[in-house]
This record gives sequence, structure tokens and C-alpha cells, in this order.
Amino acid sequence: MGVMQEIQQRSTSRPRCRNCGSPVSRRFCRVFGDNQDDVYGCMDCTSMRKLTKGAATSK
Ligand SMILES: [Zn+2]
Repeated sequence: MGVMQEIQQRSTSRPRCRNCGSPVSRRFCRVFGDNQDDVYGCMDCTSMRKLTKGAATSK
């Protein structure tokens, strides 16, 4: 699968936390995610305090 196809598929499927796999909202990804809107932490596996400090942007 090419990179572009992968990006298209990712943009149409519901985003998930890359740490625990829980579904997260796009808004959550934009707020807490990295430049690719990937999140490496969510409210299921990471505390809000850590998320606001950028915990979801690091692997
Ligand atoms: Zn999570």
C-alpha cells in the first residue's frame, strides 16, 4: 500500500490512541496530537494533567 493511500484511509477511519488503541475524536487529536494528528496517549491511558503537558505527542 502506498503512502498516499494509507493517509487517505487514515483520514476516513476513526482515529485511535497509538498507545492503547482506544478511539479518540478528531478534535482530541488536533488539540493533543502531534503534527500528523497522531496521539500517543488518551484519557483512557494518560491523565489529563499529562496530556495538557504534551504527553500525547511523544512516543
Ligand atoms: Zn490511550
